[in-house]
Amino acid sequence: MEALQPVRGTRDIIGEDQRRHAHVVGTSRATASLYGFDEWSTPIFEDTRVFARTLGDTSDVVTKEMYTFADRGGDSLTLRPENTAGICRALVTNGLTQALPQKVFYAGPMFRYERPQKGRYRQFHQIGAELVGSAEPLADAEIMALGWDILNTLGIAGDVVLELNTLGSDADRTIYRAELVRYFQDRSPQLSEDSLRRLGSNPLRILDSKDEDDRKVIADAPTIGSCLSDASKDFYAAVQDKLGRLGVPFVENPRIVRGLDYYSHTAFEFVTRRLGAQGTVMAGGRYDGLVAEMGGPPTPAVGWAAGIERLSMLLDDTPPAPRPIAVVPLGEAAEAAALDILQALRRAGLRSEVAYRGNFKRRLERANRIGARAAVILGDDELARGVARVKDLVTGTQTEVRLAELAESLGR
Ligand code: ATP
Ligand code: MG
Repeated sequence: MEALQPVRGTRDIIGEDQRRHAHVVGTSRATASLYGFDEWSTPIFEDTRVFARTLGDTSDVVTKEMYTFADRGGDSLTLRPENTAGICRALVTNGLTQALPQKVFYAGPMFRYERPQKGRYRQFHQIGAELVGSAEPLADAEIMALGWDILNTLGIAGDVVLELNTLGSDADRTIYRAELVRYFQDRSPQLSEDSLRRLGSNPLRILDSKDEDDRKVIADAPTIGSCLSDASKDFYAAVQDKLGRLGVPFVENPRIVRGLDYYSHTAFEFVTRRLGAQGTVMAGGRYDGLVAEMGGPPTPAVGWAAGIERLSMLLDDTPPAPRPIAVVPLGEAAEAAALDILQALRRAGLRSEVAYRGNFKRRLERANRIGARAAVILGDDELARGVARVKDLVTGTQTEVRLAELAESLGR
């Protein structure tokens, strides 16, 4: 029979891949906890409106990338392409808009119908952090400091630069939008079809285009600086000041706009040169309008998401596979006693395995094959004396250890 293949753009995460993946999640989870963030898990599919309403009708994600389907009851559902909208939906659903701020960490799969390539998949995984309920610049700075600390703890901060921008207030962007429309209209013959369409609906989005010809026009486009109100400038300056105090280095990049519609003021990306075109590993910003669009009260918020696959690719080392202890019985009485010893070792917190079948030689071979660090060899005569032979499989030395002291001796 024909062997079935995984769906294009999806992959199995096994062995080294899984250890890298788990290391990224575990490290991020622990660091987020240090900053007072709690983990939430929300469904991987939602009412399509959760995303359609909030991500913006002109975003790539909504127009081209969503996995949307009618379920058997006829409801339109969507596999989550990102998790900020879901977290805001959950905040409202669970009545937490009166219990602010909420500091949320998450990790899990996301789904986008994109052209698969290195660092870009149709099912990929993100970690993310959302700080909901604070309009203070310190919140923006703290959320970026958390991101920076995670990269540091993973040992990859040296390859990554934090690029920072402001998108100003809604009023600032209205002025800026008009400037952009004037600029791009004069150059419309050079723009891609997508960008021409956005010129009418959402000209800021053009700045995020990856089309090469677009990029040339974008290079000289006006930046938002001259459109910012004094209040917006003060806010931006305060964010930078707090970042400095929290020890987070950054560079300003006035080109950063982010791909989704809901951002205002702070926008940022952690970028690396080591992943080619897929250089953005972590990205986010302030999204003060999103909770209200989800049917909650106006609620300020700021957050980021990072691609676990891209972070994993940047790790210098793969966390080593855990090395178990192999219990190797030799003789009939030993077969039975091995199970007691196995369970005692596990209860003591030691990863321990026994081969299910085979003679002594085969079982010792298997111990080596699974990378065991020690073999506990149980012969009938040793058992009678209340001892086992412990063979250190790294050095090859053998010692006799009393059964009662086995766990302690192996735990060191
Ligand atoms: P890109 O510009 O690479 O398409 P994006 O702006 O669509 O990214 P976000 O929606 O901000 O990305 O998601 C945050 C992070 O999630 C990205 O910086 C990236 O690390 C990761 N990411 C996004 N899409 C994918 C994907 N299809 N495959 C793997 N990782 C992804
Ligand atoms: Mg994208």
